[in-house]
Amino acid sequence: MTTPVRSQYLRIKKQHSDAILLFRLGDFYETFDDDARVVSSELDIVLTSREIGKGEKVPLAGIPYHALDGYLSRLVKKGHKVAICEQITDPKNSKGLLEREVVRVVTPGTIIEPLLLQDDANNFLVAVVAEGDVAGLAYTDVTTGGQIAVTQLPFNALAPELDRLQPAETVVPTVLKSAILGTTGTITTCDAPTLEMSRQALLNLLEVSSLEGYGCNHLPLAIRSAGLLRRYLEENGRETLNSIVQLRTYSTEHYMTLDSQTRRNLELFQNGRWNDPAISLFAILNLTTTPMGARLLREWIGQPLLNPESIHKRMDAVSWFCAKFHRVKNVRNKLRLIADLERIVGRIEARKISPRELIALSQSLEALPNLLQEFNESDDVIELNQLISQKVIWGECDEVALLLRASLKDEPGQVGEGTVIKEGYSPELDDVREASRNAKGYIARLEEKERDRTGIRNLKVGYNRVFGYYIEITKSNLTQVPEEYQRRQSLTGSERFVTQELKEFEELVLNAKEHLEELEHKLYYQICEQIGVRRKELLEAAAIVAHIDVYASLADASDRYGYVRPDVNDGDAIQIVDGRHPVVERLIPTGRFVSNNAHLSLTDEQLIVLTGPNMSGKSTYLRQTALIVLMAQIGSFVPAKEANIGVVDRIFTRVGLQDDLSAGQSTFMVEMVEAAGIINNATKRSLVILDEIGRGTSTYDGLAIAQAVAEYIHNHPRMGCRTLFATHYHELTKLADTFPRIRNYTVSVAEEDDNVIFLHRIVPGMAARSYGVHVAQLAGLPKAIIKRAWEVLSQLEQGSINASFSEQPSLATHSASNNETQLPLITSTIQPHKVIDELLSLDVTSMTPIEALNTLHALQLSAEDSASSIDRL
Ligand code: ADP
Repeated sequence: MTTPVRSQYLRIKKQHSDAILLFRLGDFYETFDDDARVVSSELDIVLTSREIGKGEKVPLAGIPYHALDGYLSRLVKKGHKVAICEQITDPKNSKGLLEREVVRVVTPGTIIEPLLLQDDANNFLVAVVAEGDVAGLAYTDVTTGGQIAVTQLPFNALAPELDRLQPAETVVPTVLKSAILGTTGTITTCDAPTLEMSRQALLNLLEVSSLEGYGCNHLPLAIRSAGLLRRYLEENGRETLNSIVQLRTYSTEHYMTLDSQTRRNLELFQNGRWNDPAISLFAILNLTTTPMGARLLREWIGQPLLNPESIHKRMDAVSWFCAKFHRVKNVRNKLRLIADLERIVGRIEARKISPRELIALSQSLEALPNLLQEFNESDDVIELNQLISQKVIWGECDEVALLLRASLKDEPGQVGEGTVIKEGYSPELDDVREASRNAKGYIARLEEKERDRTGIRNLKVGYNRVFGYYIEITKSNLTQVPEEYQRRQSLTGSERFVTQELKEFEELVLNAKEHLEELEHKLYYQICEQIGVRRKELLEAAAIVAHIDVYASLADASDRYGYVRPDVNDGDAIQIVDGRHPVVERLIPTGRFVSNNAHLSLTDEQLIVLTGPNMSGKSTYLRQTALIVLMAQIGSFVPAKEANIGVVDRIFTRVGLQDDLSAGQSTFMVEMVEAAGIINNATKRSLVILDEIGRGTSTYDGLAIAQAVAEYIHNHPRMGCRTLFATHYHELTKLADTFPRIRNYTVSVAEEDDNVIFLHRIVPGMAARSYGVHVAQLAGLPKAIIKRAWEVLSQLEQGSINASFSEQPSLATHSASNNETQLPLITSTIQPHKVIDELLSLDVTSMTPIEALNTLHALQLSAEDSASSIDRL
């Protein structure tokens, strides 16, 4: 026989089978069965068991109700969906089984508990639908409230967009799940509503009668993705839906596209090798003061603009700050007083806001007029002017601030204790508070009165939860207890009594307490509601603060690190004088970074072949060129003496030697997939960075591919785009002889005796040699090894001269331009090829075991042969 509670649990669990069900039982949220096992192992809490019927036990793990936030955050962070089931009826007023109901389902994309959230990054919930080769995408951040952004885009543009958003959770119809498997965050499935249902849902949500004004009327998949997002929130984050007041349609075509490897290679948000967010472009540029500012800057870096006019508008605002630097300081001092308005608004709507946060809101709003005063002389700067001219918003923010000032105490306690709402705001509450205070005062005075009346000096009035108020008398004084005292409880040394009068006042106190609790809650939520009406204006104010913050931050970075304002235009050139790498220059001692020029254009220096020893600075140069372009297009100033940037529509990067082991692909395969991505998607306006392409395979294959790629980029009418190509294949320098827009550059090196000094200076020409042994020496390999390496190198170089290619005709014909220093590498790749070729030509399925064994033996002999011929070299 199952108990009624167990049946209730099972019924509710069935409706939430995909979530962990936290089932409220008194002071605990309990989990049972498999949920209990998961919770116990994920949260490291004890797994016990509970009897649910005669002799039948099930696993149980519970968490104390007051510690919910912390545990919840941890579960959700690990990717779980959690359903919170509360007791709906008050245990005091009901007998038998309490009613229980799931009041909230929390998922990584719908969590609003601040413990989980990173201040300077958004927590995006994304919904995606697709039809044929077109996709619709909608996203929102329920923690900052406000907006659903929607777009419709080619299916193959979906991955970079998802990568840009770094969703906490992505919702898709089941059929799409496998197509977006690589996306960060949790992937959840949910059926997408029809177009009509979606449209209707949006109209209801936005409280409008047409989507005409939102720019998405003609984008059915965008509308459906928003419909899916809304449906999901309806099911899982209902309380956050209210905060959505705006729908914004955007097009990825208006922004520079950055694919995931480019974001990673350029280290926009974290360092590639150590995943360290402190070593990134964002970390260097982020001198913002508010979390809203930091999030906006992150968004800008992830989504550079394409329109020079919009870019210059941003730069004008940065320039305004730079012109008089005290403006940055003044503005920043005022920004410091402003709290995270966006997240506060998000939490007001979700009824999760604490009185302290509301006080922070009111202080922030009061600081706004002061902040805006700083812009009195900004008439000529369109961006700033537009920001601060929104008089309506300021008026309404003022109203909210006034309401908060009038209603909340400066140092509020918990809602319900009578310590939140200011005296004078609600006469009714004041009365209740007074009554409660009087009754409490009366009880305190009662002790004195009863001592005098009874003559018992150590008579005490006390309170406990079970018996309420009581009078305590020690055993030795029991004879003096008056007749009307009623005995309630005996302790070892004393007895406890109540009197009629005490009971009456107790009633008053408790009633008042309950009344107070109820009334204060009611008033508090009324205030929240009143503020909620102004959420749109509050969010607009937040956006303005964020923009001001980012402009001031970019101006500060520019001043601190010595950046200049670039000229961004529709031309086809990239011209950088004395450019620097914004991150590397901060990591090495001040003044040590060697600046370099860059010139690329479609008409002359279109493709640069950069050769030079390892560690000389090739990658740094490639990346700095891309980063300067990217910084310019977000509206930032750039680390250079002068820069002229013809807008770039996409930056592609392929950086060698990165194993994508997690995906089970070989280095070479990854490299080729990425190269194919570049070749297939680059346009004339793109900037392509190729670092050591072809390195993951044998020398000839690699060289052949590298050369073919370079030629294709140079010649193809769709591409012919600006390209920087760093390579260790010296053969590629010959391309400049044949192709009019290919140029050779190298990193200069000074040689002194046996030592080399890398000058990090990029100059026209090609590298004389590879300096591999020098680098090994710099890296600190033992002297004995270095000495021996020199010997071997010289033998190899000798050997290579004597070696005859006639022995390996098939390979010799592959390249007409192999040079001496490459030969040892070539040789080592020759013999294994024979074996591999033979291996590949076998039809294993048709071989008998004995044939297989014989063939294997023959192959082994052949392999030994090759090995010994390499040894001889
Ligand atoms: P490569 O790609 O040629 O192997 P990197 O670009 O990785 O070399 O540079 C190696 C190191 O050299 C960098 O980590 C940096 O410390 C230093 N370096 C690179 N470029 C410069 C420069 N322009 N000025 C000063 N140091 C540099």
